[in-house]
Amino acid sequence: MTDKPNVIAVALLSGGLDSTLAAKVILDQGARVIGVNFAGAYCPRPRAGKSNAERAAEQLGIELVTLPIDADFIAMVKRPMHGRGKNMNPCIDCHTLMIRKAWAFGQTRGAGFIITGEVLGQRPMSQNRNALNMVARESGVGDRLLRPMSAKLLDVTAPEQEGLVDRERLLDVEGRQRTRQMALAEKHGIKDYPTPAGGCLLTEKIFSKRLAEAFDHGEDSLEIVELLSLGRHFRLPSGARLVVGRDEAENDELLRRKPADALVIDASDLPGPVALILPPSRPGALVADSDRAPAASICVRYSDKRKENLARAVVAGESVDVEPATEEESARLLIG
Ligand code: SF4
Repeated sequence: MTDKPNVIAVALLSGGLDSTLAAKVILDQGARVIGVNFAGAYCPRPRAGKSNAERAAEQLGIELVTLPIDADFIAMVKRPMHGRGKNMNPCIDCHTLMIRKAWAFGQTRGAGFIITGEVLGQRPMSQNRNALNMVARESGVGDRLLRPMSAKLLDVTAPEQEGLVDRERLLDVEGRQRTRQMALAEKHGIKDYPTPAGGCLLTEKIFSKRLAEAFDHGEDSLEIVELLSLGRHFRLPSGARLVVGRDEAENDELLRRKPADALVIDASDLPGPVALILPPSRPGALVADSDRAPAASICVRYSDKRKENLARAVVAGESVDVEPATEEESARLLIG
């Protein structure tokens, strides 16, 4: 129930418990809260069902707007200013950019401030006091950024000074323990929330290895990054990339996401995978004719014809008969 309809907050809502509780704290003060989350590339939507953010928005009874992980995010991941976590995740830079974009959106909807579920001291690298201050400063949001979960332990923000929110009714949660959050969830009847972590592909080892390798080969387009979570990836000697689907769902997804300059290897007349050959990342480069046979050879290795001397695959509409690659041959070219 919104009893201060003119007080509008935009909330970064991942759907995790902290961001859900942060939104709840502000909703309970009568403000109108609009949830914003990000999807695409390294934050993929679930293949089926609702996302965590959608479920959280539903429980809170608020509007949710999903913004894309776009090329700006990929450029930031390639060259983060504040380093990375355990894998390729540059959380400080990523959070800064999410906040900047969510705030830009919020201003188009008349938001007076932005809230996040950050908790002081919960993550040693990205949620210490310095990092929180840096994110506020570098996102350009400054003191319009309010962290309701830890607000009482942090400097007073503009919405508190202006009386848009009551500081006394904000929280003082600190550290990695989640007991307080779980008690608050119970108190507010929030039952459906995911376990912490998960969801971001940059925190995963294999995806990170693939992404680092792609950057090393000059591949940094959104469409390549969006392919990295699908199938098996190989680097052909020419520098071309081969992606081989692992099941029917991935085969369909590869065809759906096929970049315009990729060639399709379709073994669909046999029980087997679909694959894409992508040209090396050089201006004007196309897939070389000499890539077709080695790519087809790896592709048929994952079909029912892997034990045959010769197997047929269809590369860009043309049939090619090849020897299936051996385990060693495909392992040599495998990325991640
Ligand atoms: S976990 Fe992933 S999505 Fe979240 S801030 Fe870090 S890099 Fe960004």
